[in-house]
Amino acid sequence: MASGLHFSHALLPCGWQRDVRLTIADGRIARVDTGVPPAPADDRHAIGLPGLGNLHSHAFQRGMAGLAERRGSGDDSFWTWREVMYRFLERMGPDDLVAIAALAYAEMLETGFTRVGEFHYLHHDPAGHAYANPAQMAAAIADAAAQTGIGLTLLPVFYAHGGFGGAEANAGQRRFLNSLDSFAHLRDHAATALTALPDAVLGLAPHSLRAATPAELSALAAMAGPAPIHIHIAEQTREVDDCLAWSGARPVEWLLNHAEVDARWCLVHATHMTPAETKALARSGAVAGLCPITEANLGDGLFPALDFAAAGGSRGVGSDSNVMIDASEELRLYEYGQRLAHRGRNMLAAAPGQSTGAALFAASVAGGATALGVPGGIAVGNSADLISLNADHPALIARDGDAWIDGWIFAAGRSGVDCVWRHGVRVVSQGRHHARDKIVARYCTTLSRLLE
Ligand code: ZN
Repeated sequence: MASGLHFSHALLPCGWQRDVRLTIADGRIARVDTGVPPAPADDRHAIGLPGLGNLHSHAFQRGMAGLAERRGSGDDSFWTWREVMYRFLERMGPDDLVAIAALAYAEMLETGFTRVGEFHYLHHDPAGHAYANPAQMAAAIADAAAQTGIGLTLLPVFYAHGGFGGAEANAGQRRFLNSLDSFAHLRDHAATALTALPDAVLGLAPHSLRAATPAELSALAAMAGPAPIHIHIAEQTREVDDCLAWSGARPVEWLLNHAEVDARWCLVHATHMTPAETKALARSGAVAGLCPITEANLGDGLFPALDFAAAGGSRGVGSDSNVMIDASEELRLYEYGQRLAHRGRNMLAAAPGQSTGAALFAASVAGGATALGVPGGIAVGNSADLISLNADHPALIARDGDAWIDGWIFAAGRSGVDCVWRHGVRVVSQGRHHARDKIVARYCTTLSRLLE
């Protein structure tokens, strides 16, 4: 049955419109009318925006958020963080993953992320053996998506090696490992796990150039067909050095020369690129998957955002390690990193007078949707994935249009979000997910046991 949703103002692909009425049927936008009054039964709100895709998440890492903030001996780096992560994983089973992922997904929805790209590599049991259903952990992710309502683009990860050139994996990686054959089998079972979700997408992800050989990468690209292909790349300078030692080329350079990288691809991080690599990546049509909070937390470095934008590159944001989940904070930090590096303001607005918040948001909605294999924006046929802003928030008072987005991103943060709809269902009201209390209680029980 169709229902009506009315916004006093909403951001459509053609810009801000007044008195926007959406007719929603079977979770999708069946009609968009502008300049019309609400019908009596309509759900009425002030400011409507399209939902934002979160293009990169490892949901289980929500459970270790804040646990790696104590200084270690010697140089504390990404690689020492990774050791904490491996230890945290030693006990986590499918039910634990459901509990942790459900909190992560509820929090994503509360901040305006309506679809998640789950870069899922925790496949096997703690001993490193496949579960009876090899996609048991993928099914746990699908279960958490169903409980919270978030849209899911599942990216089962292929991980076979511990370093460039097919180096052997270490014991901490035993839960991630597959051959091409066992991975194809796992992915078939993952497809079955997604059938209960209304509009799930199944892609795949070679973990990194460290974890897959060139021959395996070619096989994976063929296996993906038209579906999204995501890969971690050039996140750390050590990875760049190791890639140069192995191949004579830098990671992004190597990938662009050896794979048919196009809009199906999402290159996650792509932090360390030369100007030539930056231009070539922008030209490829691939999406750069930026995770500003995690990249800051791990001390990765800064993405060459200005050169990439000048070359017309496509990009979106992801919450990656989920150390803090907040869509507005990802966008704000992306801009602030550039301000600090270049000692200027409004770095990512394209033209004089343009709103930085609106530019960040529009580019991230478009790039996020591309990377997650769905159309984005408020348009007929698209899933009804929507955000309303809190028009009474002090940071949003006495302004309109793009200034609302600036107020949300730069001044209010997550408290600027009022309601969120996913596939036509309102799952967040007044900034709270409808199942928050139950999800938090279960998460607390799970964490207490995992960390005891
Ligand atoms: Zn990641």
